[in-house]
Amino acid sequence: MPEPLIVARNLEIYYNYGKSNEYYALKKVNIEIYPQEYIVFFGPSGCGKSTMLYCILGALPYTFGEFYIGGQDPYKLPPKELVKFQQKTVGIIYQQFNLIPSLNVLDNVALPQIFMGIPPAQRRKRAMELLERFGIAEQAKKLPTMLSGGQQQRVAICRALVNNPDILLADEPVGNLDEASAKKVMETLLEINEKEKKTVILVSHDPRYLAYAHRVYFMRDGRIEREFINPERKQIKPIERGASLVSETEKLARIYPYASPEELKVKSIVNYLTQDLTFEQIDRLEKLVKLVVERKMSTQMLYDFLVSPFDKGGVELNQARAQEMIQKLEDVLKRSIEVKRFRRKLEEEELDETKIHVRRLRMALLDQFEGEVKPIQVKRLEEAIEDRLAGYITKDEFFRKLDLPIEKGGAGFKRNTAKKFTVYLEKLIAQGV
Ligand code: ADP
Ligand code: MG
Repeated sequence: MPEPLIVARNLEIYYNYGKSNEYYALKKVNIEIYPQEYIVFFGPSGCGKSTMLYCILGALPYTFGEFYIGGQDPYKLPPKELVKFQQKTVGIIYQQFNLIPSLNVLDNVALPQIFMGIPPAQRRKRAMELLERFGIAEQAKKLPTMLSGGQQQRVAICRALVNNPDILLADEPVGNLDEASAKKVMETLLEINEKEKKTVILVSHDPRYLAYAHRVYFMRDGRIEREFINPERKQIKPIERGASLVSETEKLARIYPYASPEELKVKSIVNYLTQDLTFEQIDRLEKLVKLVVERKMSTQMLYDFLVSPFDKGGVELNQARAQEMIQKLEDVLKRSIEVKRFRRKLEEEELDETKIHVRRLRMALLDQFEGEVKPIQVKRLEEAIEDRLAGYITKDEFFRKLDLPIEKGGAGFKRNTAKKFTVYLEKLIAQGV
């Protein structure tokens, strides 16, 4: 049984965590990527694909959750070790190639080895081998701008591979290329996966490239919406047998912890039997199932829609498939007690006005702060604000809590910052904010 190479559990990434411009970019992401898999992260612009990729690169620390590459959390490494890890384990190519314009092709490719302490002659030799391997050796002495886009991207691939990493990341690598060059670069990536046995992770919003992958993670709005297993490629990841709708729902509950129970049900039912449907069919199906879940439509009516032609508002499924889907849906609808409990909990959380007030004040304070804040600092700051609002602590005690190091239970801010926050909070409280 192979072990996964990359694991993310409930991974969450916020930009500007704790501030009013906080952005929740990755939401409870769960993935497992196996050695030598070809994976695509697919989804519309802004859904968090690059964020995911930079996290795997070791360049973007996550905010919550767990993350491992080769059994180790790279973000727990000391800074120097992290750099070494990045150089040895991961290579990346970008849409814009990012070659250094003043260096010739050979030196561009050779460059990353400098930081590995490899002597110059050996660096050039290794770089040249790669250029030969990818059919661009003749361009070795030219400057990048003299090459076509497709050639430049292949130079970038050589550079990404020069330290022989296990993982090659590609962020929309053919977005800037004409069709013929794009195809060539895509073939090269496939070869790197199949022949060089590298794990390839591609980010793309172009459905034409999905077929290269073993598996596709569909992303939307910071979440992994669905996982698609490509039946055309022999799978590396062990396939779960007998996945029932129950486990499907549980899986989804982990992926969509904040989704309403109705949404969860809709997604689980739709997820269950739709691997080969088009986006349009799935979209239509979600809308119809939602109506049933909300009791605005009977399952009999849904059945009629399922088997109707698409241009009549239907989903165009065959009868057996539609029947099976209706059966599953009715099962899910019966299992609603747990769902109700879940919903009540959500409502309770939302109704906590103190929490909302504390959060608002916390943002106002942190907006004054330049630089990154750790999640633990946000938590401690909120505790202090809550205590201060309730009158459990004085202004001076508030200051001391902010000033105290994190290890000692404080928020670990610098003295000046703690002072500034204290004064500002009193002002906000006085103003009734
Ligand atoms: P994709 O690659 O799928 O287009 P990204 O991962 O680049 O999406 O971005 C996801 C979301 O996070 C976008 O809404 C984007 O505006 C936001 N975002 C990306 N980088 C930053 C950043 N450095 N600061 C704040 N928000 C960011
Ligand atoms: Mg992107």
